[in-house]
Amino acid sequence: MPDEEWSNWSGSVTCRPDGFEEPADEAAVQTRVRAAAASGRELRVVGTGHSGTPLCATPDTLLGLDALAGVLDHDPEAGLATVAAGTKLCDLGDPLLERGLAMRNMGDIDKQSIAGAVGTGTHGTGRDLGNISSSVEAVRLVDASGEVRFFEDPTSLAALRVSLGSLGVFTALTLRVMPAYRLHERIRRLPIEECLARLDDEIRDNRHFEFFWLPFKDAAEMKTLNPTEAEVSPLPDRPYERIGWAPHIIPSERNEKFFEMEYAIPAAAGPDCFRAVRARMREKHADVVWPVEYRRVAADDAWLSNASGRDTVTLSIHQDGSLPYREFFADVEPILLEAGGRPHWGKIHGLKADRLRDLYPDWDRFLAFREEMDPKGRFLNAHLREIFGI
Ligand SMILES: Cc1cc2nc3c(=O)[nH]c(=O)nc-3n(C[C@H](O)[C@H](O)[C@H](O)COP(=O)(O)OP(=O)(O)OC[C@H]3O[C@@H](n4cnc5c(N)ncnc54)[C@H](O)[C@@H]3O)c2cc1C
Repeated sequence: MPDEEWSNWSGSVTCRPDGFEEPADEAAVQTRVRAAAASGRELRVVGTGHSGTPLCATPDTLLGLDALAGVLDHDPEAGLATVAAGTKLCDLGDPLLERGLAMRNMGDIDKQSIAGAVGTGTHGTGRDLGNISSSVEAVRLVDASGEVRFFEDPTSLAALRVSLGSLGVFTALTLRVMPAYRLHERIRRLPIEECLARLDDEIRDNRHFEFFWLPFKDAAEMKTLNPTEAEVSPLPDRPYERIGWAPHIIPSERNEKFFEMEYAIPAAAGPDCFRAVRARMREKHADVVWPVEYRRVAADDAWLSNASGRDTVTLSIHQDGSLPYREFFADVEPILLEAGGRPHWGKIHGLKADRLRDLYPDWDRFLAFREEMDPKGRFLNAHLREIFGI
């Protein structure tokens, strides 16, 4: 579709790629990458375009991997499943269930592709649960010269797990999975101070805990999910509870468009940082009705993961998709940075290489790895050049 406009989920990022191509298989991916290499133009790969930053925007070739979908292999004893990189998370839950398996955790929705979710460090919530990237045990990709390569050594995985599509086109990912499990969901609304007073206990006592601060009510909607052996049930007498298989219970529907900025801060700094954000919003942005989401993510070792090396609280700030958001986000962002925050790569933020470098101990290691994988920068677009400082 030459010259047709491509847009991300929220409509905040658009571009007119020279070609939007959907290769039918891995060999066709190689052909496209070789063509880009020969022409000296850039190539970006897109999952489902749910990122709010211009990670996928390109004037050159945009590659969609919808055709590379499905569970390719599984080994219940080893707790591993290999999936094609374009598989949507919503198309992964049931096929894994049929094999008696499930992902360890998921985020708020299940519309993203697995490669896209991995690429930006997409996460859910749970004190002992890492982001989705941390479950990647092996990567198969087409590199910048068009060769298929396979990585499973710890150093390469530390670079590849969160790599924003800058190291190659993933074609398959091997994930650590676990036996299928059911979850019991409970949703409660409490005054915010009561929620904050119980925060440590809730995070410790529940496999998954999160709360949404509802600014117009100054209340917290708290959600807990815990494993159960009970049968799948909607629990009609308890409208704010339900039981089901994990992939049916963890994700929610998000049908309204919104803008989002999210920062990952050291877990211990979470409550104070949240209080500071709440105070700023009450003082200066009392018109914002969209909630602030508070989640916990376990530390991991991926070089560009925003949970790298530290247990993490994520704070997500939202604004309606039809309203201005820039001034509001720019006013709250310094509070998140002050708390040691690292931005979610797929959500709106205002940082470039000069600020980002200091936030990641392994930043230079990642850049050296990238240089080795793609010395001519075929997988770099303007946004990546800006955030990597290249
Ligand atoms: C409604 C909504 C809810 C969300 N909920 C959460 C949440 O709960 N938790 C959270 O952490 N984030 C969340 N996000 C952010 C979202 O998960 C990330 O932006 C994610 O990267 C989007 O996946 P995607 O498939 O759309 O990837 P895209 O946005 O299309 O791409 C993301 C990155 O992955 C790269 N990529 C895609 N496919 C490949 C491939 N085959 N090989 C190499 N690189 C590839 C792209 O080049 C790009 O750099 C949400 C976003 C929205 C809009």
